[in-house]
Amino acid sequence: MKRKIAILGSTGSIGVQALEVIRNLPDLLEVEVLTAFNNADSLIQQALEFQPNAVVIVNELWYPKVKEALQNEDIKVFAGESSLIDIVEMDSIDMVLAAIVGVAGLKPVYHAIEYHKPVALANKETLVVAGELMMQKAGENQVPLLPVDSEHSAIFQSLAGEFENKIEKLIITASGGPFRGKTAAELREVTLQQALKHPNWSMGHKITIDSATLMNKGLEVIEAQWLFGVPLEDIEVVVHPQSIIHSLVRFTDGSLKAQLGLPDMKLPIQYALTYPKRVATDFPRFSFAQYPALTFEAPDLQLFPCLQIAKEAAQRGGNIPAAMNAANEVAVAMFLQGKIKFTNIPDLVAKTIAHTPFSIPKTIEGYIETDLNSRIYTNHNSSF
Ligand code: NAD
Ligand code: MG
Repeated sequence: MKRKIAILGSTGSIGVQALEVIRNLPDLLEVEVLTAFNNADSLIQQALEFQPNAVVIVNELWYPKVKEALQNEDIKVFAGESSLIDIVEMDSIDMVLAAIVGVAGLKPVYHAIEYHKPVALANKETLVVAGELMMQKAGENQVPLLPVDSEHSAIFQSLAGEFENKIEKLIITASGGPFRGKTAAELREVTLQQALKHPNWSMGHKITIDSATLMNKGLEVIEAQWLFGVPLEDIEVVVHPQSIIHSLVRFTDGSLKAQLGLPDMKLPIQYALTYPKRVATDFPRFSFAQYPALTFEAPDLQLFPCLQIAKEAAQRGGNIPAAMNAANEVAVAMFLQGKIKFTNIPDLVAKTIAHTPFSIPKTIEGYIETDLNSRIYTNHNSSF
């Protein structure tokens, strides 16, 4: 039996790599649904190749174009945000790959969990914003959430066979990004082009900027807290510039287990899609000769305040991580548009959090309300 996959966000960096994985495993995996926000051309081309049951183009402007291009195919075409949510209900879907960027993934992922669909989760913002509700619903419905993020996949792989054993610490590795070792003065002058050049990974723009500010690591600490049920004080971040050790678990006997490999997202994507099986690949193999030294250092929290901001937001809990995430999404978008400086990103996020009234939302809509308020505040307070 082939596993039928719905890829939410199929035109992005994770989505495209997931399709590469599926293309190489035609006997095991099949594309059931593809979705995209704006990129109609790429969605059409993917649909023609993979012949899914249905596609969703979220921006309705492009509906006529997609509909026309696929009129001779046996492929249903839907448009709009509500279709993106409803589509996960389809009986034929065996697994949902959440590869949308940002809080836009929240409702579809929650809906997938409500409909008992196993989720391969790349969209970390979903757990940052509403991790408690997500995990609660996943537990109630016994829906597995399989991590795609490389660090969380590494932890998940290290935990195989250890689920009964207590975790003493999770150690999340970070490359340190393109600006590791810079001075504060240098950091104030960095350009967008420099920020978009990640040393080890090629990814979507938003996560690439998050990696440069270290907000990505902050989001990952929160993601790990929820995925593995480990308290924040037992989650440590270590900078490991070579990105070969993807993360580690320390058990109560002091033993450390880790997962290693070349930095390539196809591996964690495939592990989630074929879980619990490991399937042979021809991906390039790690060579000891090419990596004579693996090095480690502490993250510089003064230079990269976002990591500390995220940990503090997680400690406060409630709606604060949601406010932080929204402010960060807006600030990163502004930086990408050349409207603010790189070092304004943490300032803007901190300012928004300071202005957010604390609450403990009981519903997804409650978290989304904080998200919207936070976006308005960030947008109106972005002059420096
Ligand atoms: P991306 O920007 O390359 O792709 C995003 C996808 O989401 C696209 O298909 C786009 O059409 C869709 N999308 C964007 N906005 C949307 C909206 N408002 N509504 C519906 N769909 C929308 O992003 P990416 O780099 O592939 O990252 C996706 C997620 O995976 C992020 O949460 C990121 O943090 C996480 N992640 C990515 C990587 C990586 O290597 N790229 C690694 C680990 C985790
Ligand atoms: Mg990661």
